Amino acid sequence: MIRILLYIFYYVLLGWIIVKIFRAFSKKHRSATARDFFQDKKKVVEDDKLVKDPFCNTYFPKDKALVLNYLGEFYYFCSEDCRDKFVSSISHKSN
Ligand SMILES: [Zn+2]
Repeated sequence: MIRILLYIFYYVLLGWIIVKIFRAFSKKHRSATARDFFQDKKKVVEDDKLVKDPFCNTYFPKDKALVLNYLGEFYYFCSEDCRDKFVSSISHKSN
């Protein structure tokens, strides 16, 4: 009897998780409410990983970064200016 109750509980929980996931996906298509705005805002903060510009040492969100793959390593820059100066500084070092 307890086993049956556990099975029911398990499937209710599983169904609840599926609904949660489904809602998370369909959220993008719904019009934004105030609550969604705050949830999205929170999500943005969680998703936005800060990266450091190796040239000017500024921290900024990764999605706004200019990415440079140099010798298999990724570098993130706040501007083209910083990227170009960094590239010229490392090429000067190696020469
Ligand atoms: Zn910079």
